[in-house]
Amino acid sequence: MSEELRFDGRVAIVTGAGNGLGRSHALLLGSRGAKVVVNDLGGGMHGDGRSSAAADKVVAEIRALGGEAVANHDSVEDGDRIVQTAMDHFGTVDIVVNNAGILRDVSFQKMSVQDWELIVRIHLNGSFRVSHAAWPILRDKGYGRIVMTTSAAGLYGNFGQANYSAAKLGLVGMANSLAIEGRSKGIHVNTIAPIAGSRLTETILPPELIAALKPEYVSPLVAWLCHERCKDSGGIYEVGAGYHARLRWERTRGQHFRARPFSVEELAAKWDKVGDFTQAEHPAGASAIAPILEGVQKPSRGG
Ligand code: NAD
Repeated sequence: MSEELRFDGRVAIVTGAGNGLGRSHALLLGSRGAKVVVNDLGGGMHGDGRSSAAADKVVAEIRALGGEAVANHDSVEDGDRIVQTAMDHFGTVDIVVNNAGILRDVSFQKMSVQDWELIVRIHLNGSFRVSHAAWPILRDKGYGRIVMTTSAAGLYGNFGQANYSAAKLGLVGMANSLAIEGRSKGIHVNTIAPIAGSRLTETILPPELIAALKPEYVSPLVAWLCHERCKDSGGIYEVGAGYHARLRWERTRGQHFRARPFSVEELAAKWDKVGDFTQAEHPAGASAIAPILEGVQKPSRGG
């Protein structure tokens, strides 16, 4: 057996940890020695109501297992208060798992401005607010692990989820840039796209699938990405039912007209080449725009 991966001395914030995936992440981190801030405002799945019960119950579960945890009942929109809870009780922050979320599924035609804004506020702005409040602490100590929770709907789109998809893919964009900014400061930022049985999925998926897709099958990836031994940053991982895979961008070699005037007809004539994934490349980071500039300087490329 390999050595147990532990989090002794580490302080973890898990948002939306009163139910589903967040509860499972918090329980795993707490059982491995992390001091956990269990954040949850205890509302309904559409963003209605609030209650302290959800977070308190998970704190009790962690303590019953011999772990250390404290509840926070603020919304992720008040991320600074969640981070303050960690500072007040445990004196620092090492790990932030941005997990809290709700749904307002409706076709784009019927989507209200409120449906759009609420989802962007909770998922995208909420993850920003918590991460932004924790960032100076992580930066000062030269160590940090942040996990964003995106979704297949964000990566690939889904009917009735334009608001959720936009917010969820926004998190990937934020993670991409934070991974670059955090690199020299020991802060790693990764993104997961989970699938699990929870109250968010129980009305969409059949009961036998819900039973098989346990949140516990997602949490080991979260724990690994939050561990000091994991050196990866800027990754996107699809996870569920025991499946783990990394996702990356793919780009065709393309067609370059090398910064000279060209017509619509010339572009149309090369259209197949623009979309031809033979010899595709996998751009990442700020150097991804290099081929645009290279093509200008080296006439051989894509001509
Ligand atoms: P869940 O409803 O079981 O848990 C989400 C928790 O977040 C709830 O306890 C809720 O009270 C809390 N929450 C909601 N708004 C909050 C706020 N403003 N501040 C603090 N807490 C808040 O859902 P889940 O399925 O465990 O989802 C967790 C995350 O995973 C979400 O971000 C969701 O979008 C994402 N996700 C889930 C699935 C899946 O298959 N379950 C798929 C893709 C993405």
